[in-house]
Amino acid sequence: MKQSLLFAPTLRDMPKEAEVISHKILLRGGYIKQTAAGVYTYLPLGYKVIKKIENIIREELDNIGCSELLMPALQPKELWVESGRWDHYGKELVRLTDRHERDFCLGPTHEEVITSIVRDFITSYKKLPLALYQIQTKFRDEFRPRFGLMRGREFIMKDLYTFSSTQEDLDEWYLKVREAYINILNRLELHFRIVRADSGNIGGKNSEEFMVLCDIGEDTICYSDESDFAANIEKEDYPDGAVSPDGVGHIKHAKGIEAGHIFKLGTKYSEPMKAMFIDKDGKTKPIIMGCYGIGVSRLLMAVLEQHYRDDKAIWPKEIRPFDVHVLPLDKAGTPGYDIALDLAQKLEAKGFDVLFDDRAESPGVKFKDADLIGIENRIIVGRKAVEGIFEYKNLNNDEVSELTLDELLKKEF
Ligand code: ATP
Ligand code: MG
Repeated sequence: MKQSLLFAPTLRDMPKEAEVISHKILLRGGYIKQTAAGVYTYLPLGYKVIKKIENIIREELDNIGCSELLMPALQPKELWVESGRWDHYGKELVRLTDRHERDFCLGPTHEEVITSIVRDFITSYKKLPLALYQIQTKFRDEFRPRFGLMRGREFIMKDLYTFSSTQEDLDEWYLKVREAYINILNRLELHFRIVRADSGNIGGKNSEEFMVLCDIGEDTICYSDESDFAANIEKEDYPDGAVSPDGVGHIKHAKGIEAGHIFKLGTKYSEPMKAMFIDKDGKTKPIIMGCYGIGVSRLLMAVLEQHYRDDKAIWPKEIRPFDVHVLPLDKAGTPGYDIALDLAQKLEAKGFDVLFDDRAESPGVKFKDADLIGIENRIIVGRKAVEGIFEYKNLNNDEVSELTLDELLKKEF
């Protein structure tokens, strides 16, 4: 793609509102723009990465048999009265009244809507199980929106709901989704722990959170240094250095960013909302549910907190906005520029996603913007291009080498 057509408004100065590195990179690189406190626009670069994250999630969930749908953000009060959450959710729920004085809320989560859909269509055990998810904008009037996308008032979440006729089937889905989440976070190259958690506003007894380990995380976890045991300290805590409750290893503490949360809801929503089915034995029973969330927009930042170098983004391979950045130092109409364009086209023909800086800017401006955007593989087409020599720079390890066209075309980026 030609950079002159890319809307990536980079910032030379450090924005005051950004306290953490991921937020700084996203603002300065022209990935996102704040529209109101806790409300952001995903600019083309940011949205490109978001879509790649979403597609990883889609692939992993479709792979275990989930189906995608899209529910409305605008939800009628009546459903929330049925579940009992209209009175209990508190001020985080964005409530509004339409011109006919009917009450609505903007969904912070979708248990009520999905339960109301499934109860209208599913009446027999023969139609179960079901696993339905969406990737959608959520609204929560957070008391203190913070760190950009990390705690927004409007944010993108993937929410999945499973419907089973037996507890064993729910247990199976829970494990399958847990595995899918592990695959998703691994593909995002994240260092994380799965921790026992409190169920908060969503409810249910058993739940686990996927914590991206990072010093700016708002949660504190305790974990065993030798086993898989880990818990959010809101749920359970043990003194530093104590023997882990599973008897293996010792307790350590760390900060984490909650990237995902999975719950065995049981019949918390199906019972009050009367989502019933007729079982094999002819008896009418409430459907047994699970729900599973991932903070998609929060992940954009969580990933960067673990993937940057010298203030530059080093995106994990599967979600980087471009594979290669080609910077001709000469302006259009010169042989150097034409050589660069030819290289960019050859790389694109090989399947790489190339950003080509066609702008009539000075080399200084081009380098600065390239640093702010942060594309790991950079090819500089300078004075030696007419002799067939290109400069390759890798932002992740500062490797700089002079390569010929053939060598570049053989390279895996
Ligand atoms: P937190 O404890 O961070 O407030 P939560 O437990 O209320 O989150 P869930 O209801 O479990 O969140 O939502 C599922 C996922 O959505 C979370 O794991 C998190 O990744 C994401 N998420 C929740 N609230 C926000 C927010 N305000 N901004 C961005 N992402 C969020
Ligand atoms: Mg949670």
